[in-house]
Amino acid sequence: MNRVRRMLMSRSSPPVGAGRFPGRRLHWPLRPFDSPHPVRATFGEPRGLVGVRAAAGLRGAALVHALERLNQLSVPGKRIIHHGIDIKAPDGTKVYAITNGVARIGGGTGYGRWVQVGDFRYVHLDDTIREGARVRAMRTVLGTVYEGQGHVHLSRYHEGQPVNPLAFGGLIGYEDHSPPVIGALSAMSPRGRRMELGALRGPVGLCVRAHDVQSQGGLGTGLYSMTYVMFDDADRVAVGPYHLFRMDRIPITPVGNLLYTVSSTRHRTQPDIVYRVTVKSPSGDGLLRTGQMRPGDYRLRVSGADVRGRKTVRDFPIRILSPFAEQEMLAAGLDPAQAHDDDDDQPLIDLEDTDEQLGGCGCPELDPAPDRPPDD
Ligand SMILES: [Zn+2]
Repeated sequence: MNRVRRMLMSRSSPPVGAGRFPGRRLHWPLRPFDSPHPVRATFGEPRGLVGVRAAAGLRGAALVHALERLNQLSVPGKRIIHHGIDIKAPDGTKVYAITNGVARIGGGTGYGRWVQVGDFRYVHLDDTIREGARVRAMRTVLGTVYEGQGHVHLSRYHEGQPVNPLAFGGLIGYEDHSPPVIGALSAMSPRGRRMELGALRGPVGLCVRAHDVQSQGGLGTGLYSMTYVMFDDADRVAVGPYHLFRMDRIPITPVGNLLYTVSSTRHRTQPDIVYRVTVKSPSGDGLLRTGQMRPGDYRLRVSGADVRGRKTVRDFPIRILSPFAEQEMLAAGLDPAQAHDDDDDQPLIDLEDTDEQLGGCGCPELDPAPDRPPDD
């Protein structure tokens, strides 16, 4: 069994992305420096995908439609995960450094340039200062918000890896009193067919739609952490509890690729995120093997939290049917998953060796591999 699989199966493993480094309160890179500004996107949100031939060249609604037609549980390419926060600000707003240092400049592919000073990178800038310029915290203007962006993206790094600017002390005065919203639960076969929650059989992927609400500005964002546990009809724990993620750091690539359904993304300020709850499960393959569980009624309890600790818990009743029908099919040499999918008309998922990025929100620094310098 490989290391990733073992990690996905482990109940006691630390939450994906867990980690610590000395926290200190950070100033905002906009005036006023010590009062909160609206956050319109959080660290760890799903963005585009890289390497999905079925959607190559598509944009906007056509892209969304193409991705929705794919098997939502598949891993058709590399998932791009937002590794900073987006702070709302009108185009042209002055962006300041929050630490002293020396400016490095990069980017510039239609979404503005970035300036990096020490462990912080400020993205979507116009009229930037020059490369190598000495910078003083809250004195030096690094640039202005690039036309059409309406926000500045702030990334923070620790030992070269992106970390969540809102965790570990966070930004001064940042609060979020609105709890996350946990929406509908859905169940899918491994081939992406929808299944009834009241009639689960065989391997299933369980997915939940969820987002957080920022109390300042009311904008929708991704969640900070999520856990789940399953109870049987006598209220005994049947599965879990599992810590699915905690967005202090970016999940490792195999987990990041499994954590969201294929079409999960955001459209400007509106998140459309479906988290795959069974990214961790007893079988460690992103699925719940209901054929190995006692048939009957269960309760799936999903708990989601934002970075300030506001939590929402929601219970979903589900029913697991008898596995006997399935075993008989296996004995007869039939594939039960195939039987669920016999009229399947999914397009072929086709990997491509291009690095074309599909979807996303115009944050050009997004990168599926955090260890690569996040340039364009
Ligand atoms: Zn961003």
